[in-house]
Amino acid sequence: MNDNISKLKEIIENSDNIVFFGGAGVSTESGIPDFRSADGLYSESYKYPPETMLSRTFFMEHTEEFYRFYREKMLYPDAEPNDAHKALAELEKLGKLKAVITQNVDGLHTRAGNKNVLELHGSALRNICMSCGECYTLGIFRETEGVPICKCGVVIKPDVVLYEEGLNPAIMQKATEAIYDADVLIVGGTSLNVYPAAGMIDYYRGNKLILINKSATPYDRHANLVIRDSIGKVLKETVCLARK
Ligand code: ZN
Repeated sequence: MNDNISKLKEIIENSDNIVFFGGAGVSTESGIPDFRSADGLYSESYKYPPETMLSRTFFMEHTEEFYRFYREKMLYPDAEPNDAHKALAELEKLGKLKAVITQNVDGLHTRAGNKNVLELHGSALRNICMSCGECYTLGIFRETEGVPICKCGVVIKPDVVLYEEGLNPAIMQKATEAIYDADVLIVGGTSLNVYPAAGMIDYYRGNKLILINKSATPYDRHANLVIRDSIGKVLKETVCLARK
């Protein structure tokens, strides 16, 4: 057995207070690309970098262009939970995983069965009218073209946190508390370069910080275990063994 997997298995077996913190890499195995790593690809068909197009100012001032990008690059209605999502749902069922904190907006952790999911950047599955507050599902994008408009005549905005917007303070608080109280913190699929990920990891006080990412992160030297591999593969194998 892979040495790292057996170490992770042992850590998981001995804890019932694990918190998982995940980034875009968790969903790439579901076919959802990380828009931050793909600037070059988009520059051909868009005049602005993704960070500009996903900003509050851009949404307000170039709503049509925002939705052209958003519909094409941010919505993946056919994506399914992958091995990482499924393994985490299983860990929660086993009473080991206390919370999933995610930077992703695709709703796949909830789809996989996790109950305590803290979505730092909101959810693309919810879309809210900017005037009356009516909530729409993803279906609104099938039913409309271009800019989705509410029954009341006002623009609908995805319930995702855009650049320049603050995170939901209640969710931030729950997430930092979960990290602070955690016995084991597994961080996966994130390079930990994007705010607020790096700052939140600092709340962890334990000595079982596990980083699973294909590339190096600035936190590798603080981690107790670093696994450079596919998050889906690692979690699936480990949880499978821990269940035995
Ligand atoms: Zn409305």
